[in-house]
Amino acid sequence: MAKTTLHCSFCGRSRDEVKILIAGQEGHICEGCVSHAVDIVDQEVNAKTESKSGYKLTVKKPVELKQHLDEYVIGQDEAKKILSVGVYNHYKRLQQNNTQVKSKKEKTEDDVEIEKSNVIMVGETGTGKTLLAKTIAKLLNVPFAIVDATVFTEAGYVGEDVESILTRLLQVCNYDVDAAEKGIVYIDEIDKIARKSDNPSITRDVSGEGVQQGLLKLLEGTEVLVPPQGGRKHPDQKLIKVNTQNILFICGGAFDGVDKIIARRVNTNSIGFNVNKQLQDDMKNNLLKYVNAQDLKTFGLIPELLGRLPVVTYLNPLDKETLRAILTQPKNALVKQYNKLFDLENIELKIEEEVLDFMVEKAMEYKLGARGLRSICESILTDAMFELPSTDIKEFTLTIAYARDKFDHVKMGMLKVA
Ligand code: ADP
Repeated sequence: MAKTTLHCSFCGRSRDEVKILIAGQEGHICEGCVSHAVDIVDQEVNAKTESKSGYKLTVKKPVELKQHLDEYVIGQDEAKKILSVGVYNHYKRLQQNNTQVKSKKEKTEDDVEIEKSNVIMVGETGTGKTLLAKTIAKLLNVPFAIVDATVFTEAGYVGEDVESILTRLLQVCNYDVDAAEKGIVYIDEIDKIARKSDNPSITRDVSGEGVQQGLLKLLEGTEVLVPPQGGRKHPDQKLIKVNTQNILFICGGAFDGVDKIIARRVNTNSIGFNVNKQLQDDMKNNLLKYVNAQDLKTFGLIPELLGRLPVVTYLNPLDKETLRAILTQPKNALVKQYNKLFDLENIELKIEEEVLDFMVEKAMEYKLGARGLRSICESILTDAMFELPSTDIKEFTLTIAYARDKFDHVKMGMLKVA
């Protein structure tokens, strides 16, 4: 009796043509078809996690998040650590929500609901708050929008409704609601909507408490009807429904004067204790380190808002060493950017170490911070960038004499903080 040859039931190749033939109940499959099937499954699964605008959330562990932040942001270790954990927990919660939806019926009594971990960052302007939020959003591959708290007013006044925060988020991801609902919003200048405690007026304070009240629902997680073009809602405008439950809000502000509030609190707390000298000095040098929700409440943020921003962190003021490192170390450091610009003209740019020190010195002297470094570089290099492309020069060394000369001739107006 002739022996029947076995075939792959998918591609039809015979036993001799393949390496492995796995037997099923009524058929066989070869190694080639198995690997093809794996690809198809992968593609399908990915298609489900990828939004239509191409955003695909990639959650990294806190240590990896911090390592990534280290590549772009100098210093600010504490803020990086706290932000990494906050962001990681937020997205872990998001995944937990997904699985809970799937197994709603199996909900057990010990189901713990993780609350949102919106973050508030306190630190002088130009210390890297926006940069941190932006960098982390990029790494996670989620839509990211920056909004300024000062443009919002409470309903009934001229200005924008708080809902328009979500308009920005929708705009960056081409109105892909799914993607926007997992995005990150950075609300800048949150300190500017503080309640003015010394405001004796009994009329409502237009851009203060009312706006904070308006933000509450948004931060906590709710369904919001968003005007697609921003601005104020019109009665006959088509609105987009966005659920903010999984949107991470990071707020930032300089909170000018909060150091005095902290000092007062810390001092009162330490009355009667023999606080050591080193601790006292440390406190004096950077009081922000000790900031907590209580201080922000005294500053004028309402407790309900603070309750929805459970993660509080601070950024250090930038010292000389940090500014110096910002010039050269981050992945897209200024010096690297200028090198590239010159490189594109086939000119090799060499910058003397002394010039870098000089730039830092000037940034400190004129209190321009990290943002000012850019305008200082620009003021020194503009002439070279203007003239050199029309010459045969292939190498340009930026010497301290050249830098001083150019800087001395620059109009002070040019040195504004961008
Ligand atoms: P903030 O939001 O705190 O006002 P930004 O994050 O907008 O400040 O910082 C302004 C610019 O200064 C950034 O784009 C970046 O180039 C630079 N910068 C500020 N702080 C840092 C830092 N710690 N590391 C690297 N660059 C920084």
